[in-house]
Amino acid sequence: MIFLLGSSFYSFLFVLVLRLQRHEDFVYKRSYCFSCHHVLSFYDLIPIWSYILFNGKCRYCHQKIPRTYFIVEAIGGTLALLCFIYYPSYQACFLFMFISLGLLMSVIDILEQHIYLFSLRAFALINIVYSLYDVLSLKEHLWGVLLPYLFLKACRYLIKDSFGDGDIDLWMILGGMLGIKCLIYAFIGSIYLATLYALYLRFFKKDTLTKTIPYVPFMMLSSLLTLLLLRI
Ligand SMILES: [Zn+2]
Repeated sequence: MIFLLGSSFYSFLFVLVLRLQRHEDFVYKRSYCFSCHHVLSFYDLIPIWSYILFNGKCRYCHQKIPRTYFIVEAIGGTLALLCFIYYPSYQACFLFMFISLGLLMSVIDILEQHIYLFSLRAFALINIVYSLYDVLSLKEHLWGVLLPYLFLKACRYLIKDSFGDGDIDLWMILGGMLGIKCLIYAFIGSIYLATLYALYLRFFKKDTLTKTIPYVPFMMLSSLLTLLLLRI
């Protein structure tokens, strides 16, 4: 059951990313096959099982459905299971949502160099709810929000375009949840990871670094590691 919920959620997120890229409405428009445009029934949308049952093909036009759907759904299901095996249920829920939304924002940052407001709001909401059940003092949470705001705005004032608005908002949300101490670890970690990646590009891919490196994946990865190692 948990596996099914996890894979359904990832199936939804995957379609969301595809629709955002096509600039389509993702709230009201029903799911349809991307090749024959046939509207899909509930029966066609059961994650993984539909894929296996119809042999990875659309039931209407028999076009092959990209294997990515299957892989994304399998990852979602497995991740949900792992969270619920290793953590008590409210922490597992939070962790699953944290990783999922973090992945969503990372993928969109890589593809479009952009953070959508709805994903930022959803992410803020789960982090605030989680912080309500937290052991940290209110002061630590508040400083976690305030410090990135002051520090990153100052950085941007000194070095133009060093951090985007989305990056600052995201650090404030993460800081509010992690608390001031863990936030500093997460921030330093993210800079290390991004620098390592830049060095990797420079020396192994002979990349001239003309394009900017997406920063959200490193923020999320570093914050997740800090969360797992120090906070949960
Ligand atoms: Zn079709």
